[in-house]
Amino acid sequence: MITLITNVDVYAPRALGVCDILIAGNRIMAIEPGITLSGEHITRLDGNGMIAMPGLVDSLVHITGGGGEGGFHTRTPEMNLTDATLHGVTTVIGALGTDATTRTLPELIAKAYGLRNEGISAYCYTGSYHYPVRTVTGDITDDIMLTGPVIGVGEVAIADHRSSQLSASELARIASQARVGGMLSGKGGIVSIHTGESPYQLSLLHEVTDSSDIPASQFYPTHINRSQSLMEAGKRWCERGGRIDVTTSTNAQFIAEGEIPAAESIAWFLGQGVDVHQLTMSSDGNASLPVFDNNGRLTGLEVGKVGSLYQSFRDLAAIRDVSLSDAIASVTLSPADILGLHNKGRLQPNADADIVLIDPATRDIQHVFANGVQMVDNQQARVKGTFEA
Ligand code: ZN
Repeated sequence: MITLITNVDVYAPRALGVCDILIAGNRIMAIEPGITLSGEHITRLDGNGMIAMPGLVDSLVHITGGGGEGGFHTRTPEMNLTDATLHGVTTVIGALGTDATTRTLPELIAKAYGLRNEGISAYCYTGSYHYPVRTVTGDITDDIMLTGPVIGVGEVAIADHRSSQLSASELARIASQARVGGMLSGKGGIVSIHTGESPYQLSLLHEVTDSSDIPASQFYPTHINRSQSLMEAGKRWCERGGRIDVTTSTNAQFIAEGEIPAAESIAWFLGQGVDVHQLTMSSDGNASLPVFDNNGRLTGLEVGKVGSLYQSFRDLAAIRDVSLSDAIASVTLSPADILGLHNKGRLQPNADADIVLIDPATRDIQHVFANGVQMVDNQQARVKGTFEA
């Protein structure tokens, strides 16, 4: 199967200018101007007037649904294929969260395989918020080495009333097991960290890096845009070589309470001189977003959307002083590299053919390719999930 996208303005995320992109099977074969091909069985797509960027890599999605924190009826629904593809996301990393009782790792792994069968790239973390860490095989290293989609552990909760209040030595042990599993299997072995709102912030991560041989780059703390104060802590974490993630799913109440919109947060970090390779956005898709009244009573429940990732990218790209290349990197190259997915998040020969074509004026998504297959055609889903109407 050969596809040629012609005359498209390529951001790899680095700007490459107007080129043709040749796709064979699931891979990009060439990106250069004026590729000539003759013969039958070539699908051509005129990219004139459009921008091509890598498919988005969403490093945190509750693909099987998240635990509702207002009782059993508030457990959130699973992610559907087009929740991702219509919004340019071609790679998702699934995670459990607070609920590792009614949500299980076998279900998470099965869902990742299911999404692969439907056409996108899907991975997941073993474990959940809790310590001792739940695993499939009984061991974090074994899970990463022997279970195809598992590329790390998380989201392990810190600085949160729902966390297991684990110690630095316990977290160091989790990280070392993930690190070894990653090294032996050629995977990232990353420890995804759910950062809560307690004043301890990222202190536990500093403690582990100070007192063990685990490098800061092993940890990938998320929700750093919870408050300006946590962002300052995130900056200090980046200064010692750490990487951070900000969350794009939000609601009016969270913003009113001091959360910084993801795009503004990334722009602030870039302005502070943090390298874009240390900065990512993720959707926290399908997480529950509870709304409480002044007495702490649950009054409403919303669900995080994978589509918020592209929306935040769009907001980021619209901010003066933020280059389009940096905005693209924060949702493609940066998360792919942090996660050790080196065929993802970039447009270059031999990379996976995950490509999003957008209108440069409106920034609307026109076409999406995942692993060389066109999933979205003129804003319409060409491929749908098994049970999507
Ligand atoms: Zn979380």
